[in-house]
Amino acid sequence: MDKRQRKQVQFSAVYLIIALVVAWLFQALIFQPMVIRWSEVPYSKFLEDLDAGNIKEVQLTQDRILYTCCSDAEEKNVRSYNVVRVDDPDLIERLVTAGVTFAGEAPTNAALPMLLGWIIPLLPLVLIWFFYLRRMGQGGAGVMSIGKSRAKEIQGERTGIKFADVGGVDEASFELQEIIAFLKDPKRFTRLGAKLPKGVLLVGPPGTGKTLLAKATAGEADVPFFSISGSDFVEMFVGVGAARVRDLFEQAKAKAPCIVFIDEIDAIGQSRATVGAIGTNDEREQTLNQLLSEMDGFESNQGVIIMAATNRPEVLDQALLRPGRFDRQVQVGLPTEQGRLEILKIHTKKVTLAEDAHLDRIARVTAGFSGADLANIVNEAALLAVRSEHAAVTMDDFDLAIERVVAGLQRKMRLKPEVRRRVAYHEGGHALVAYLQPDTDPVHKVSIVPTSKGALGYTMQMPDEDTYLLSKRELEERMAVMLGGRAAELLVFEDTSTGASNDLERVTDIARRMVTEFGMTEALGPVRYANPASTGYLGQIGGLRQDISPETARLIDQETRNIVEGAQRNALQLLKQHRQALDVIADTLQEHEVINAEEIAAIVGSPA
Ligand code: ADP
Ligand code: MG
Ligand code: ZN
Repeated sequence: MDKRQRKQVQFSAVYLIIALVVAWLFQALIFQPMVIRWSEVPYSKFLEDLDAGNIKEVQLTQDRILYTCCSDAEEKNVRSYNVVRVDDPDLIERLVTAGVTFAGEAPTNAALPMLLGWIIPLLPLVLIWFFYLRRMGQGGAGVMSIGKSRAKEIQGERTGIKFADVGGVDEASFELQEIIAFLKDPKRFTRLGAKLPKGVLLVGPPGTGKTLLAKATAGEADVPFFSISGSDFVEMFVGVGAARVRDLFEQAKAKAPCIVFIDEIDAIGQSRATVGAIGTNDEREQTLNQLLSEMDGFESNQGVIIMAATNRPEVLDQALLRPGRFDRQVQVGLPTEQGRLEILKIHTKKVTLAEDAHLDRIARVTAGFSGADLANIVNEAALLAVRSEHAAVTMDDFDLAIERVVAGLQRKMRLKPEVRRRVAYHEGGHALVAYLQPDTDPVHKVSIVPTSKGALGYTMQMPDEDTYLLSKRELEERMAVMLGGRAAELLVFEDTSTGASNDLERVTDIARRMVTEFGMTEALGPVRYANPASTGYLGQIGGLRQDISPETARLIDQETRNIVEGAQRNALQLLKQHRQALDVIADTLQEHEVINAEEIAAIVGSPA
């Protein structure tokens, strides 16, 4: 839910309270006096008046007796009296003997004015509210449509975007060909009993065209495109996210074949272990659970392909990557020189270029730029040309635009040199430890470009194949990799920093589970100590079994610590042995900001 909607709900609540208070006041001031005008007298006075023959007419309600007394000597005016009706079985008989006209009153008659007293003052308020909502509702989802998927608004957009509109993604588009062929003619595949992947995860840095590529896939296959962004789910009422997911899939199934695209899936799909504290975000988890169950709930043969994009695959919950879910990953990397040229060509299609504006030269000097950066450069250059009243966009305009975009990028990530150096060593440490251990996922890429999510750098590891189970040794290696950053800081700067907190969290989680769930320590043996309820299928961290003695609990903490410390020792050991390589990697990172697997291999040589 966005800010506006939230404000709207708050507004509505305040409004409702005001309306109720006004209605109550109205009720109390206008309608109550009508009843009060009857003066209240005791039952004995009523009997007196009755016996004295003063009463002509009596009105009986369920709990009151209303009568007028016309010949009261003390009062000139005709008085009306109001008596609480006591439980008197002889009442009717008395009235008959006294010869008084009497009538009962149906309780509904009393309720009607009461009801009107509430409804009439509320009516205008409700009307105003209704119109307000209608106005708010235009162009966005109103309060009434909470839980309805945003995807509804685009009704399965026909994107019309083709692969020709996306530059430098030959590999990725090649991998998507099969999906397109399937979407174009699902029957051809189902007839032969072929099963397609349900989910395709696009992985790559921000601005490399993942969203664009997903749209192009829909465009090439000419199928509807339903999209929703993971960040939409953040800050929503509990249950709303899950409802949206359900809704989205319902619509998609009705429109199959089609593509459902979940942008920034890391916002909902972050693993419990990385998010940290227990009970952090129920909403996120519910949404994730709903997504998983939707994905499990249908066959890919139904013609719905789910695509998702992330620039942080390493934080995704493992449950998302299991077979039958996002089991296919497509890498969308930063473009090569050739790719940058293609992207520049795409974005300058509608731009009048001067004779001297050579796109290949621009492509050559923009190493490390993403497609979005290049689009930005073209736009800046065109603006500059307009401002200086050039007939066409010149090379000078481009040079200036590049400078500006670079400056902008640098401002975004302006870190003090010593911080950059530390981050370079930290990430270099992760990468080197990963590279040096044979049984761990190979390093794909290391970067010290700060991410939009607040990380100062990241090391991307690519699993060779699906991992179904991990040995103790593999877990130890993983932990060493996670601690590699901190170890490198220790080694080089002889102190540590806050940058490793997330690493520590993940390591501690693994170590604890090795002790309490996987029975991997001598001291505690193959016994499960974790609370059975605590490891749900998202692998969340929980408490210990209730019946564990304090000594055992202490031993568990001790063993967890031993494991983590052991992993840190291993990481330190490896880094010490390859200190030179670490320095070169850190230097390269400071210079180029990114370093890939081949470059690391060239620096370190083949792992010992
Ligand atoms: P991502 O989803 O990977 O962050 P987007 O697809 O949102 O990136 O890209 C943002 C914009 O940058 C696109 O709308 C497009 O104008 C431009 N862009 C990015 N990558 C490319 C590309 N490979 N080819 C053409 N344009 C691109
Ligand atoms: Mg995007
Ligand atoms: Zn780290």
